Amino acid sequence: MTPEAPPIALRCDGLSKTYGAATALDDASFDVTAGTILALLGPSGCGKTTTLRLIAGLDRPDAGMIVLGGSVVQGPDVSVPPERRRVGLVFQDYALFPHLDVQANVGFGLSRRNGRAARVAETLELVGLSALASRMPHELSGGQQQRVALARALAPKPRVVLLDEPFSNLDASLRNDLRNDVRRVLRESGATAVFVTHDQEEALSLADQVAVMIDGRVLQVAPPHEIYRQPVGRAVADFIGQFNVIEGAGIGRAVVCDLGTVTISEPMIGTVDLYVRPEALQISEDPSGQGVIESRRFFGHDQLVRVRFDSGLIVECRAGPTFLPPPGTRARVQLDGDVLAFLRAGVAPRRQPGAAFAPPAARGRPA
Ligand code: ATP
Repeated sequence: MTPEAPPIALRCDGLSKTYGAATALDDASFDVTAGTILALLGPSGCGKTTTLRLIAGLDRPDAGMIVLGGSVVQGPDVSVPPERRRVGLVFQDYALFPHLDVQANVGFGLSRRNGRAARVAETLELVGLSALASRMPHELSGGQQQRVALARALAPKPRVVLLDEPFSNLDASLRNDLRNDVRRVLRESGATAVFVTHDQEEALSLADQVAVMIDGRVLQVAPPHEIYRQPVGRAVADFIGQFNVIEGAGIGRAVVCDLGTVTISEPMIGTVDLYVRPEALQISEDPSGQGVIESRRFFGHDQLVRVRFDSGLIVECRAGPTFLPPPGTRARVQLDGDVLAFLRAGVAPRRQPGAAFAPPAARGRPA
């Protein structure tokens, strides 16, 4: 017997929203499975906050449907008010009630009849703040305030928790700790969560699924490793992580470029851009190599080494921390990993399934 798929806790289907002449959302769709975390990731102004506001019921879409826990809360003839959607909200600036102590903040949305005191204690325990229950918000650090905000959102057992840039007001090391805490708390509480971020690392490290939004559209929804390794088109590839873009000539299932001949999975004829991650390029010192080391950016655990080919091509290769030949040293760069191929001009004789809205793309390996 195959196990039943977990239910969909939230479905956004074809959401569109304009503000005057500005299109904030354009036919955006995604599902969130119960008990999972989805990150809405995209550049500033791509419509992330608008999406959260529509889910919470703080704003209405021009078109589209929102289903929460199997009930339509937004549709052509339905618009359930925010207080009846059972959605928890966590904002960037925490938005705690300044005149209420921690436990009163967390218990704010709970009724006394439903065991408020016990639920407050349980939720404070979950976020590790039981000892600070009587503190006022101004007596807490930023990270503690954010944990109170999370506890307040989780206490009423919402159908979904929405977090808008929840870590952006915190410094880097605190942000990292809190990310891990928030992930653990969401997991332990079994909550379904959608969080908004423009920080790729945050999205890739925290979420089960990442929805990449660009210009009001959701272009790809996939697990983090798939978003990183198989972006569906140039727009997503250009946004996620760093790629070297290397021009080549597609001659079928092979692309001839400065790295040699690279085999790709789908035939392409014409000018092809190969997208190659720095970690897919292996660099070695070699007097007969294709170029010279120009500079390096050292990060401690690894580094990005910039190489200028004799052809003029410049690439960055990820190397270990002990690869230290000085600038000016001749080096060889070899492909050792996946590449993506996008046809710039020419034809892809066999169109790939699903590539109708994206430039033809193919995955390749060094020949
Ligand atoms: P950021 O990461 O900068 O917060 P975002 O991805 O959350 O951006 P939104 O805040 O959803 O983006 O905005 C999407 C687009 O809609 C932007 O162009 C924005 O200027 C516009 N917009 C959002 N709210 C309004 C409003 N109330 N009136 C007019 N335009 C708006």
